[in-house]
Amino acid sequence: MTSATENDFQASVRGMFDRAAAALGVPDDLVETIRECKSVIQLRFPVRLRGRYQTFCGWRAVHSEHRLPVKGGIRYAPFVDQQEVEALAALMTFKCALVDVPFGGAKGGLSIRPDDYTEEELELITRRFTQELADRGYISPSRDVPAPDIGTGAREMAWMADEYRQLYPSDIDALACVTGKPVTQGGIPGREEATGRGVQYVLREFFRHPDDVGRSGLEGGLEGKRVILQGLGNVGSHAARYLVEEEGVRLTGVIEHDGALLSDTGLAPAALAEHMARAGGLEGFPGARFVADGASVLEAECDILIPAAIESQITEANAPRIRAPLIVEAANGPVTLAAERQLLARGTAILPDLLVNAGGVTVSYFEWVSNVSHMRFGRLSRQLDIQRGKRIIDMIETTSGRTVPDELKAPLLRGVDELDLVQSGLEDTMREAYGAMRETMLGSDAIEDMRTAAFAVALEKVVRSYRQMGLA
Ligand code: GLU
Repeated sequence: MTSATENDFQASVRGMFDRAAAALGVPDDLVETIRECKSVIQLRFPVRLRGRYQTFCGWRAVHSEHRLPVKGGIRYAPFVDQQEVEALAALMTFKCALVDVPFGGAKGGLSIRPDDYTEEELELITRRFTQELADRGYISPSRDVPAPDIGTGAREMAWMADEYRQLYPSDIDALACVTGKPVTQGGIPGREEATGRGVQYVLREFFRHPDDVGRSGLEGGLEGKRVILQGLGNVGSHAARYLVEEEGVRLTGVIEHDGALLSDTGLAPAALAEHMARAGGLEGFPGARFVADGASVLEAECDILIPAAIESQITEANAPRIRAPLIVEAANGPVTLAAERQLLARGTAILPDLLVNAGGVTVSYFEWVSNVSHMRFGRLSRQLDIQRGKRIIDMIETTSGRTVPDELKAPLLRGVDELDLVQSGLEDTMREAYGAMRETMLGSDAIEDMRTAAFAVALEKVVRSYRQMGLA
């Protein structure tokens, strides 16, 4: 994987925004108002580690506060910088608007190589970072709610929530200051895998529309399609599992930091995860061909290419050689604007990041709502649901005079739990957003691609808010 070219990335996001604003005819002054981040903070803070002070540098960018709190992950990676964080914050604004999550957009980052530190050290660094952010209002249940991103997960969120709670012990909503927490620390079931699930739901929805499939040059259903996936992090590993195990796709290639694997017969995600955990990379995985130049596998033949790692992976340089007829952006910004122009001209279909990876923030919204309401979803209705199931079974057995087999009874007697509700809410959200994007694309002469359509759906909502708030 090549490291991100942040300047291109920010220019790309601006260009994508401008294209949608022009298609919608948004007036220039409003375009200016909405496009740039409203505030950005750079933090340099010391932490005493191994007997000496080490200085860390982090950022939090708030793109739009038309809805509060603002929302977006915090990334721990050595390549993070302010421009990258700003571009990602802008994407968050439009991602939230597209999927009707009532949050503004934000993003954070810490320039750090997490592997260089022990767990105890990372905890100290994270707690100190939280204090710095909290001090300036860049973490708060009502104003700015971080979440996991590259290099962070439930563990870091638990530390941040705990630190925040210690700083503000009388804030009854303190736990809602971050999402993506462990389920036992105010998290919600299904959050960790939510982005991967969202990728699955979007692909399912795409294949429910034969016209859309046809436009990409593919045909038939999702089952049996050859998929190449870049990145087996939180997004990619879950997406791979659901797509292979539940949708029957053939994972013919995976790309990671040390290279790539190719296999005509398909790779098993569970075995890949086990190997990665043991070997620290893909090399040595049995029964597949290892390719040291991982990026070259983006160009291999397949039906669906899923970049699920970092931004700027498909650029002007490799776009002419990309052979996949469908690209599914599970990462944020993996295809640059210039690359997209070339690919669209050749008829490649691109399902955009705004939609494809919005599952994470959607379930974050559910977590935050559950935190501020101080109640688990489904708690009030589960027994009612089970009783209704029993009554339906009784009715069928009494009227038919036969016994309903146990395997048909079981789902009715189980009742609806929180994970069912989260998955149902997520699927509904992704399907609705896909539909809105599709309608906009097909209904407007000025819009020809799915990304512009997704931006347009989102931007229209943001513009409406700004107008109604009286800022324009
Ligand atoms: N970091 C994720 C994203 O880029 C999730 C953000 C969130 O849940 O707030 O969408």
